Parts: sequence; structure tokens; C-alpha cells
Amino acid sequence: MAAFHSANAIFPVGYRASRIYWSTRHGNRRCRYLCSVEENEGRPEFVVRVMEQGYDDLVLTGASPKGVWDKILEPVAERRNETGTLKLFPVYLKGEDLFGFTVTAVTRIVESLPGVEACESYTFRFGRNPLMDLPLAINPTGSARSEPKTCTHVKRSHTLSSTGGSSKSMQTVGSVGVAEAPEEVTPKQFASVPFQYRRMKAEWKSNVYLARSRIQGLGLYAARDIESHTMVIEYIGTLIRNEVANRMEKMYESQNRGIYMFRLDCEHVVDATITGGPARYINHSCAPNCITEAVSLERGVKIVISSCRNIQRGEELCYDYKFDLEDDQHKIPCHCGAVNCRKWMN
Ligand SMILES: [Zn+2]
Repeated sequence: MAAFHSANAIFPVGYRASRIYWSTRHGNRRCRYLCSVEENEGRPEFVVRVMEQGYDDLVLTGASPKGVWDKILEPVAERRNETGTLKLFPVYLKGEDLFGFTVTAVTRIVESLPGVEACESYTFRFGRNPLMDLPLAINPTGSARSEPKTCTHVKRSHTLSSTGGSSKSMQTVGSVGVAEAPEEVTPKQFASVPFQYRRMKAEWKSNVYLARSRIQGLGLYAARDIESHTMVIEYIGTLIRNEVANRMEKMYESQNRGIYMFRLDCEHVVDATITGGPARYINHSCAPNCITEAVSLERGVKIVISSCRNIQRGEELCYDYKFDLEDDQHKIPCHCGAVNCRKWMN
């Protein structure tokens, strides 16, 4: 990591961002610049692909964001001088800004990547909050690739084709298993459930952000203070029947994917593996701040994650997966850190 950051930015290999900026060829035209970070002999290589209509793509590289962008800013400044348009001062434009590394949303995500602690001269803007300083939960197998498998045998044992009696049992799997029995819908405050749902659908993006979890893998955090009994986010996915879920599970396993499924009732499962939203990243806790609810609306049943107490901005969201109890061989350790932690998730 030592070579892959500066004081202001971290440079993740594989990063790509597209920017529309002034053309180097025509004073009054803009074109697309595809910025990316690659690795070349242990050093970052900054690449900009110039994509302008009527021209072949041109690929520029540099050892720093500024190095490669200077190759663009200088001719742009010349064109603008020639055409008498407003002057551009390349010296004030930072390559890191032009690559998008300093955009808040990008910084938040980048600061949550595994291994960023090694960026010693980088000044963290968000990542080094107390929640993030805790050590990551270590997965039981010690290997990221085998982790979904650990959960899948648990999944297999409390089977999808469950009988009516266990219809309330929940399950999900994947790098972070997610599952639970939806609670009965309790109308909250005075707003109707459809009204609350519509408001949540309009506002959920300002309720949450995704970052490294203090429990396991990625987690979802409260982006603002959230009052108790507020709908926070919907658990989105594809509603499928048990037989389909069993087939999909086998396919995902063969692809070594983290599997995210939520049992809605004894017949149906919501599969969030491919089509899911960020709610699937909410971790289990034995002392949760959220609950799941099955909400019946005109358009069908929706799974909604709601707060069950007041939640402060920056708190990690969690709910109780309510996994069925399993025998010793199939136990998943719980890393929720709650005082009353049951030590096992199942
Ligand atoms: Zn726990």
C-alpha cells in the first residue's frame, strides 16, 4: 500500500471514473476522459483514455494523477488561449480531484477498503472513526474465498423446503448470512404504512451508507439520526419459490458467490444475491437496533428494515437474523460484540 496513496488520496488498483472535460483538440468542445488506476511493477500507473467523437481513443499514462492530467491540461490551456475563452490555470487543478478521488462518496468507500490502514501518510477524512478502528471479525475458515461455503452448509441444514411449522425460520447465507422471520407489522406513529413506505422509498439513500463493518465484511451505517420505529430501507430482491431458491443456491455455490437470501414465508424466499440492494449488507446482532417487517402493500409483500430504538448517525445497523439453532458442527460464531451476545448466530 505504501506506493498507492498520497496525503490526500488512496489509489485503489482497478479504480475507474469517467470525467467530461474540455477537449485538447477544440477550444469549445468537451469530451470524455476515462480515468483508471493500474499496477505496474508494484507502482500505481495512472491511465486516462481520451474518448472524443471523430477521433480514435488516445491512452495517456503517468506515474501520478497530476502527471497524466498535465498531458491534457496543457493543450487544453493552449486551445483556450487560441480561441480567447476564459483562461484555465492548470497549476490550480489537482490530478487527484480530476480522477475523482476526493469526491466525498468515493473517499468514504475507498477509506472502507480492506488494507487501507497501511496507508501511513494518508489523512483519513471519514474512515478512522472509532467504529472503524476495531479489528475486523475474522471469518472462521480464515479464507475469504471459502467463507461463503462455511455459511452454505448451515443454510443447507435448515432447509429451504421447510415444512409449515418452521415457516417463521429465517435464513440467508453468504459472506454475511442474512435471514430472519419478519415480525408482524405494527403501524407506527400516526402515518399509514403505505405512506411510511413511500417516504422510505424516497429517502432511504439519505438514511444509510455502506462501509466496512465492525462486525463482519461490509456493513450498513446510519447516515443520520434515526428515530425509533422508522422505516430505514427495503430488503430488495427477487421473490422466488423454494424450488427455484434451491436451484439458484446450487448455481451460486458453484460460482463461489456470497449468497444472500431472505425467507419470507414457508413457500417464498427473497433472493438478493444478484438483484439485491444495500440492505443485504446489514449484519446480525444479538442486541439489534433494527427489526425486519413484512409489509403488505397493493403491489405485494415487501420486507422493510425498521429501527427498533433511536439510532445515532454513524451507528452500524443490525438486526437479529433469528437463525434456527444448529448442532455443534454447523454453528456460526457471532462477532456482534453485544454485552448479551449469544456467541453463536445459530
Ligand atoms: Zn452476538
